[in-house]
Amino acid sequence: MTNSQSNVLTTMKQFMAYGLINKKDKKQLEPVFDRYAATVPLSLAQAIKEDVDGGPLARQYVPSGMEVISNPAERDDPIGDKTHSPVKGIVHRYPDRVLLMPSAICAVYCRFCFRREQVGPSVGLLTTLELEAALNYIRTNTDIWEVIITGGDPFVLSPKRINGILEALDTIKHVAVVRFHTRVPVAKPELITPELLEVLKSSSKSIFVAIHCNHATELTNNAAIACALLADEGIPLLGQSVLLKEVNDDPEILSDLFRTMVKHRIKPYYLHHPDLAPGTAHFRVTIERGRELMKMLRGRLSGLCQPTYILDIPGGHGKVPISEDYLKRHTEAGDNYTYRITDINGASHTYPLQ
Ligand SMILES: *Cc1c(COP(=O)(O)O)cnc(C)c1O
Ligand code: SF4
Repeated sequence: MTNSQSNVLTTMKQFMAYGLINKKDKKQLEPVFDRYAATVPLSLAQAIKEDVDGGPLARQYVPSGMEVISNPAERDDPIGDKTHSPVKGIVHRYPDRVLLMPSAICAVYCRFCFRREQVGPSVGLLTTLELEAALNYIRTNTDIWEVIITGGDPFVLSPKRINGILEALDTIKHVAVVRFHTRVPVAKPELITPELLEVLKSSSKSIFVAIHCNHATELTNNAAIACALLADEGIPLLGQSVLLKEVNDDPEILSDLFRTMVKHRIKPYYLHHPDLAPGTAHFRVTIERGRELMKMLRGRLSGLCQPTYILDIPGGHGKVPISEDYLKRHTEAGDNYTYRITDINGASHTYPLQ
């Protein structure tokens, strides 16, 4: 059994004792545990155990020997955070919004994480001075309209710490919106406490919460309750998902995921094409396959259930939608029509320029 003091699995020994890792894989997994953080709360560990072998939960959270296989296209900083970081804890790529990263700690460590080289307990939290410098950067850049608090996972911070950040942002006039990016409501819903809700409610800014969730089975009863608590406070909830091979690269699974989100008042926002993080090739599908899946969803699901399929261009050039282009310029000479549009059944139609 695991150490009764601890309510999480973090070491290989704990994962093995709980039965999530086979003893015979020990040698192969040592370098993975040495290099990357691994944590699974016990409540989730139980669900992983009940999941089918190699099912969507295990695949997302249990370290695998595949993670040591590096691919030449992969990079430590796949989306170029470093080149756009003017001060520690800030990434400023788009004029009107910044990422503020007060915590590199997460409730769980996803095996496909795009920031896997930058997150973990060994990186930890910003110091008081570093946080103050990051907030100062926001204060002095009046173009910043939105602050996206991410990490790591900001909801692993104590409500008191989150309150400190929100109070500081409250005094910055040009900031209108504060968006949290978190996996806590699905990975460790017990952290959505009345204290945290009180803190979020007391901000004078418009608060949004984007929840990272990749499979409907992650939205357990407890996760649904945590989401409802946030939504009942009037906080708009967005869904962020990553397209992952053998987790959700299937039209039925994606339909179920997005419908379940909407049922819980989470608006699917982005479906991310996986980034080129080291040791994650076994999670990547082709963009062609992603487009095909999105096309299938367009035909069968409510508009409420449609996220934007998005790619963060490697090297820090920003995000772009990469869905199938339904509209093409028609270039045949002598034709009155300028656009050719393909409907969801593949039939072609025209639309005039004006
Ligand atoms: C993804 C990202 C954002 C948020 O982009 P949205 O399209 O507004 O969701 C902002 N800044 C950086 C650096 C990002 O990587
Ligand atoms: S919760 Fe987010 S930041 Fe943390 S490991 Fe998962 S994907 Fe990475």
